[in-house]
Amino acid sequence: MGWGFGWQPYVPVWKRRQLAAKQLDRLRKKGANIQPVAIAGREIARTFWGKAWCCHLEKFSDFSNRLPRGRTYVRNGSVCHLDIQKGRIEAKVSGTSLYDVEISIKSLPPMKWKNLRARCAGRVGSMLELLQGRLSSDVMGVVTDKNDGLFPLPREIGLDCSCPDWAEMCKHVAAVLYAVGSRLDYSPELLFLLRGVDHNELVGKDAAKAVVSKSAASKGRILDEAGLHDVFGIDLAHAGRKPGKAAGLGAGADRGIRKASRRR
Ligand SMILES: [Zn+2]
Repeated sequence: MGWGFGWQPYVPVWKRRQLAAKQLDRLRKKGANIQPVAIAGREIARTFWGKAWCCHLEKFSDFSNRLPRGRTYVRNGSVCHLDIQKGRIEAKVSGTSLYDVEISIKSLPPMKWKNLRARCAGRVGSMLELLQGRLSSDVMGVVTDKNDGLFPLPREIGLDCSCPDWAEMCKHVAAVLYAVGSRLDYSPELLFLLRGVDHNELVGKDAAKAVVSKSAASKGRILDEAGLHDVFGIDLAHAGRKPGKAAGLGAGADRGIRKASRRR
């Protein structure tokens, strides 16, 4: 409640939205592919991978105290843009201004990935099962293990935000960390991209061949959602909710985004 240095006037949410929308429009006109995170209802993440991401971060005391402040922000649509790349998360969050959030995530150490592959060998039936999180409880335990699973440890995560009240973790960064969980609901393969590993390597060789088309395989990409539907004749459970333009399991969904101009 300070009126001294760093105090900023209260700006109602509708006004923030209006200001953010104008800035985002300007960025779109410059060619940026803005991908907002929209949460339907109170649940931030609904699928195995999305929930597992959020649960994992909440396990660490470094984060658990500060994360809750991001929940309201992500639920009310303040995460206006989220881009997940190898080792890097970039986002724009609407606060008093539109802030840039950058999160770096270290690649999964090769030995950890080797151990994960060994422990999952022959136990993941297909790419669809892997991405939908339809895994045996043993495999689930392996991939979500707090220390030896796929998710990053606090020491492997670097956080940064352009807001003036930046401390170790502001509400903007916390909101983005939750937003990643929501994005994984639609594009679970982004978790593997983020950690710098190839999810094909967790699936039995024959099963992997069945879902990876020749052309896609040559580019290291999996079939998009329509392709999975053609192969398996079923829709993904979460197909009804789409995050802006980046919906579905298209591996390239988040990759084509150009870095939006950055305010520092
Ligand atoms: Zn911030």
